[in-house]
Amino acid sequence: MGGDVDSEVVAENLSALANPLRIRILLALAETRQPSWEHRGMSYSDLRSAVDVEDGGRFNYHINELRDRFVRREEGQYWLTTAGSRVVDEIHARTFSGSHEAVSGPVEWTCPADEEQLNATLEDGVITVACPNHGVLFDMMLSFNSPQGRDPDELFAWANRRALWYLESVSWDVCPHCAGRFGEATIATHSPEPNDRLETLRWDASTMVMAGMRCRRCGVSFRIPAFHYALTRPPTIAFLHDHGIDYRTLELEYGSTSWDCESEPLEDGVLVRFVIDDERLEIELDGALETRTYRRTSLLEEH
Ligand SMILES: [Zn+2]
Ligand SMILES: [Zn+2]
Repeated sequence: MGGDVDSEVVAENLSALANPLRIRILLALAETRQPSWEHRGMSYSDLRSAVDVEDGGRFNYHINELRDRFVRREEGQYWLTTAGSRVVDEIHARTFSGSHEAVSGPVEWTCPADEEQLNATLEDGVITVACPNHGVLFDMMLSFNSPQGRDPDELFAWANRRALWYLESVSWDVCPHCAGRFGEATIATHSPEPNDRLETLRWDASTMVMAGMRCRRCGVSFRIPAFHYALTRPPTIAFLHDHGIDYRTLELEYGSTSWDCESEPLEDGVLVRFVIDDERLEIELDGALETRTYRRTSLLEEH
């Protein structure tokens, strides 16, 4: 992992950032960020007065250290490069500063197993939602380290929806962290532990098939119920639609318990069954989790 990263180049570029004036230059340039169709840069004199440096030689030295990496100059204007813009995002996300103290608070969801109110905690850029009796039911790494005064309840609602975006990214074979490709999926029946979070969420975890994927580039791995993959496939999206469920508004961990589903490992792939109202969808995914076949059956006809 990380074999194609040139650590010399990374270290050199990071050292170009290691100066408070250069950080202030990046932040000042970020103030001019606009949607790309109306992008504008900053003139030398505006930038220099924004960071309030008297000594022209000193200012020139520091801006040159940033040039071609984090800042570019075009037609007399200074602009952030994409790398510069991402550094600013990380600065505002408090990745390099600020307290990583936990922020915690109740959320409006209750535990499906015991109706206890759930509690969300945001710590070191990870949100976890837990039941006092059943422990952690949801966790997700966020793209910011500090909640910046946001209510854990609203961040959880947002993160819960974002889980669908993560799933889509994995199903496109694009790692959401680094755009790398995933290695071959490992498909295996889940072995639930005591107080298994899937059981708590009212899925029958003992019959659940999980698909594991690991990014070839950055090494991040995902272990996702196979039926979640099946949800992203067109036959399932159409099936849900025909039963009044909009795929785009699904909340993967909560709110999807009004319908039944089960999954079964196959020699090379997995079979997922969904039942909604009086209809069943059986969808078979191959070893790469692509649709192999599917079949819809009315349960009324069977009687
Ligand atoms: Zn509980
Ligand atoms: Zn990756």
